[in-house]
Amino acid sequence: MGRQDLELSLKSNFSEENRPSDGSFGAAVASLVSRTVLIIRVVSNRIFKSDQIQNALKKCWGCKGDVFFTEKGFNNFLVCFELEVDQQMVFLGAPWSIFNYHIIVRKWLPHLTWEQIDLSKTTFWIQVFGLPVDFLSEENAIAIGKSFAGLVEIDSCLDNIVGKESFIRLKVCVDVNLPLATGFFFKDERNICHWVRFKYEGLEEFCYLCGVMGHIATRCVERDTISEPKSFMELGKSYGPHLWASGERLLLSVS
Ligand SMILES: [Zn+2]
Repeated sequence: MGRQDLELSLKSNFSEENRPSDGSFGAAVASLVSRTVLIIRVVSNRIFKSDQIQNALKKCWGCKGDVFFTEKGFNNFLVCFELEVDQQMVFLGAPWSIFNYHIIVRKWLPHLTWEQIDLSKTTFWIQVFGLPVDFLSEENAIAIGKSFAGLVEIDSCLDNIVGKESFIRLKVCVDVNLPLATGFFFKDERNICHWVRFKYEGLEEFCYLCGVMGHIATRCVERDTISEPKSFMELGKSYGPHLWASGERLLLSVS
């Protein structure tokens, strides 16, 4: 007999006809998972083992209860917390990093299997420099934020200052498999061209050649195909330490 495709119609614990009741087994499991489990990805080309990650992160997080790590593919780990309070602290405390590599932290949503959790995107606070004062507006902040994989939040103080330069601060979604966005050119009404540049708060190891997180230039698989920037336009778009923002928020409001 040949193989048959099996298709079943199943109902979620949260479907209309099957609302979760406090006593239902499925609802209890879903609730427990969302409160005590996290899925993390270490954004690195280096392979890490669960005991390596477990020891380092347990120390870094300083959880009150125990934490158990299970390897789930290349640098992906299922993290089970003994105490809900620890899971919450780690989730809200993101972004985290280990050995100079960024860590993506996700909750396990009950309507997905862990393999379906998107571990390709993370969030960063970015600082947007180079906009003329006339262009510091919420509308422009939204337009810039939408050029990323997603706009999460805009700093309520639209005009922050570092030194003598004002900037906009946005929390955006970044696809870690793509080169970091460095900024953009735009022309104002007088046809003057401006280079608007991005700085990332809490950015960890990334490649100055291809702009992707998780490796350095000497380990870049594209190092033979990428040439040095030759023009001002190319230099503006190049990768380097200028993408790092200072970790502290030494901001002064100019209201
Ligand atoms: Zn690279």
